[in-house]
Amino acid sequence: MPHTDPTTDSPPTTEAVGAAAAVTPRPRKVPRVVVLGGGSVGLYAARRLRKRLGRRAAAIVVVDPRPYMTYAPFLPEVAAGSISDRDVVAPHRRALRNVDTLQGKVTNINHAARQIEITPEVGDVYEITYDHLVIGLGSVARTLPIPGLAEEAIGFKNVEEAVAVRNQILNRINLASSTWDPDLRKRMLTFTFIGGGFAGIEALAETEDMARAAIKNLPGVDQGDVRFVMIEGTDRILPELTLEMANYALDEMKKRGIEFHLSTFLSSCVDGHVVTSTGVEFDSDTIVWTAGVRANPVLGTSDLPLDRMGRLMVLPTLQVAGPDGVVVPGAWGAGDCAAVPDLFNPGAFCPPNAQHAIREAKVLGDNLYATLHGGEVKEYSHKNLGTVASLGLHKGVAILFGKIKLRGFPAWVMHRMYHVAAMPTASRKIRITTNWIGTWLLRREVVSLGSIHDPRAEFRAASAPAPERPKADVPAVPAEPAGHAVTPAGDPNDSVQ
Ligand SMILES: Cc1cc2nc3c(=O)[nH]c(=O)nc-3n(C[C@H](O)[C@H](O)[C@H](O)COP(=O)(O)OP(=O)(O)OC[C@H]3O[C@@H](n4cnc5c(N)ncnc54)[C@H](O)[C@@H]3O)c2cc1C
Repeated sequence: MPHTDPTTDSPPTTEAVGAAAAVTPRPRKVPRVVVLGGGSVGLYAARRLRKRLGRRAAAIVVVDPRPYMTYAPFLPEVAAGSISDRDVVAPHRRALRNVDTLQGKVTNINHAARQIEITPEVGDVYEITYDHLVIGLGSVARTLPIPGLAEEAIGFKNVEEAVAVRNQILNRINLASSTWDPDLRKRMLTFTFIGGGFAGIEALAETEDMARAAIKNLPGVDQGDVRFVMIEGTDRILPELTLEMANYALDEMKKRGIEFHLSTFLSSCVDGHVVTSTGVEFDSDTIVWTAGVRANPVLGTSDLPLDRMGRLMVLPTLQVAGPDGVVVPGAWGAGDCAAVPDLFNPGAFCPPNAQHAIREAKVLGDNLYATLHGGEVKEYSHKNLGTVASLGLHKGVAILFGKIKLRGFPAWVMHRMYHVAAMPTASRKIRITTNWIGTWLLRREVVSLGSIHDPRAEFRAASAPAPERPKADVPAVPAEPAGHAVTPAGDPNDSVQ
């Protein structure tokens, strides 16, 4: 099986294909930087490098199974229908000009051999080699072995999940409006979220707001029929905010009727029957898991140093280093998958958020450039600018520069301004803003496209052989006279012309 390198047009060489090909290595003309992951870190690091290094100075290759970067802070607004799903993603081909992109999953990292293995969605596994490796593989949902969780719950980490949560909620509301069985209605109208951090609270608050808007126009379901539940293991929500501001958010959401179970764990959710550690039980058709993240487990395949939590160990310069602080040459890491020391809080690490990931990526790009040109590397240090959270349309909570506290509408405006400014590419910024203006003028769209999750269902049904009608039931139809249309006897529309 030939392993060719899709980043070059040349025939396979050892340099291009790794150890598998028995061809003499050909020296590379320019160093190759391979960026793993095209998310916040990958996209911004590759752009920074390309800006500083011309095409003749280095080859840059980004590897990601998705052909786009997702701006995750906007996912709750996607689930609420305030932003179109396509507008929160930045396509690599447009955002990464003069950078090669490979669509596939990295499935093995062998840094000693400077080689990675890529598994594409279709086709054979192949390997490519590199001189410098930038690791921005992000995180995955941190799940637990809770009975029923894997079968019943959905995560909230990517755009596909946000769209699925939206469709599921609107679909259940519509179905409930045509259901008379009280237990079934209750189950369909109960929406459960597990994990009261930023992602969970924003997802819950935004979708609850959308559900209320949808019910306004739906006879058959009353506002009081809908139950939104949050289960959180600690005794508070939004640990990223001060307790005072987090309690404000909690009170606001409680006023809207959202039910909170703090200091409570999910014990089981087999067949959608939720059981909590405090003995509360109820049925819920929708269970959204937002209880934290862990570093991408593919790092476990590598020979690079990882900490106890599976994160890549890096110095403040974003160079990978062993526990003794000795730099691993040619390896760089940042974002959710790396333990980046927080120089403003000695002993702590930067929290996994987009604010840090994007800034780290730029410093990483500058440091890699400096390394290639014999320059000095600098340390990443960033004081938190603040925290903004949306709690639904026109509602929010924010702390800016550690002291300015905003509640309600001003916080919500600040949330939108901050994130639209951080959204990559001018075209996305314009699209999102136009979308918001459209929603403001025409009200938000609350249609559920439930069938997009099984788009072939109708075609499958149409392709199935038609069931044979029992002979006795078939009325005798006289042969159709030429030029006459005939309908079955007894049909009220019966007509023979
Ligand atoms: C719902 C939600 C809301 C959030 N809200 C906020 C917020 O308000 N403010 C904030 O600052 N942060 C927020 N965050 C966190 C923020 O989005 C992340 O911290 C940030 O995106 C991390 O950047 P990253 O580059 O490390 O990872 P990501 O941006 O997740 O990028 C990782 C990339 O790696 C790719 N990848 C994964 N596996 C492989 C593989 N095997 N091979 C190749 N590529 C792979 C992925 O497809 C992805 O493109 C939120 C996150 C979520 C989920």
